[in-house]
Amino acid sequence: MSEIIKDENCLFCKIIEGSIPSTKVYEDDTMLAFRDINPVAPVHILMLPKNHIASANDITDENSSVISHIFVTASKIAKKLGISEDGYRIVNNCGENGGQTVKHLHFHLIGGKKLSIDMG
Ligand code: 5GP
Ligand code: ZN
Repeated sequence: MSEIIKDENCLFCKIIEGSIPSTKVYEDDTMLAFRDINPVAPVHILMLPKNHIASANDITDENSSVISHIFVTASKIAKKLGISEDGYRIVNNCGENGGQTVKHLHFHLIGGKKLSIDMG
């Protein structure tokens, strides 16, 4: 496996390398999924590429294969956590107006209750 691209000042890169603990629900060579520290619903998982990609603005033809992998894995995580039948939401916040607070691309997988339909 090739070396993981890291940003030494990035919180999620530290979680990926294990220097900051997290409650993992899925991990492989290219992605990690762990529980959000401040959940907005009974199930709130963060799914991210192990390579540091700062935001959705930084997805390219070269690094984008992990994105489809994350979505394939999302449905498996949802099934494992028992929310696939009732449904869930996958969200990405990009940049200032999108509300992104951690500058390492991640997708929120949120479910376990009826979610508000307010999208903005
Ligand atoms: P954003 O606002 O960038 O889309 O999402 C960042 C998410 O990371 C937030 O939902 C926040 O609760 C979560 N978060 C921030 N710091 C930590 C942490 O140290 N551990 C975990 N597990 N989640 C975190
Ligand atoms: Zn990072």
